[in-house]
Amino acid sequence: MAVAIFSDIHANLVALEQALRFARERGVGTLISLGDIVDYGPWPNECVEIVRQQFAVSLMGNHDHAVVGGTDIRYFNVYAQQSVLWTRQHLLQTHLDYLSRLPFTHEENDLLYVHSTPLHPEEWDYILSESDARYYFKYTAYRLIFIGHSHYPVIFSEKEGMLSPRRLKLDLENDRYIINVGSVGQPRDGDPRLCFVIYDPDAREIEYVRLEYDIDKTAKAIRQAGLPEYLANRLYQGM
Ligand code: ZN
Repeated sequence: MAVAIFSDIHANLVALEQALRFARERGVGTLISLGDIVDYGPWPNECVEIVRQQFAVSLMGNHDHAVVGGTDIRYFNVYAQQSVLWTRQHLLQTHLDYLSRLPFTHEENDLLYVHSTPLHPEEWDYILSESDARYYFKYTAYRLIFIGHSHYPVIFSEKEGMLSPRRLKLDLENDRYIINVGSVGQPRDGDPRLCFVIYDPDAREIEYVRLEYDIDKTAKAIRQAGLPEYLANRLYQGM
């Protein structure tokens, strides 16, 4: 049964609900969150609640970690610092406790789910280039790694290098892959539509889903919450 892999929801409930509706219609059986459920967006409690109840796997992201005090926010930009503090103030204690317990990785045989990178995920490095990807192909044995973190959907194939996001039949006998599933709540590849991946392990196929959602609604709620205006504006640019 197909698996939907979400990352970087960032407390954008409108985008999350839209993505879930689509996944259900497509008969997805399992939901995976690669982290950064919260921060930047105005609905952290609602989004954590949904992930807690409905997702089979839920992993730690750097923003979840920062909100619970695990990652030093001095390295965050000023908007992120403000929203981390806002999110920490507004999250229910039970959700803070939940976030603080999230694991960094989830492994299924030669498949790995992780927010940032397969080696020292708590250092929050990025896999952005073919040379970054080659490093992790060299020092890990996984055939398939799903990541988020950069909010930039991209496929790295060990054989073919960097591929643009597309429907792809995986050749898991002969090739290996690092797949960035993009971001549900704050895309940054210049396309403001929400992004996630559906993986069909039987067909060995991945598919990127891009969907429009009501950005106005999220932007309005960001402003009303007193979060930085910039966080509302960037949603329209997808940057
Ligand atoms: Zn993120």
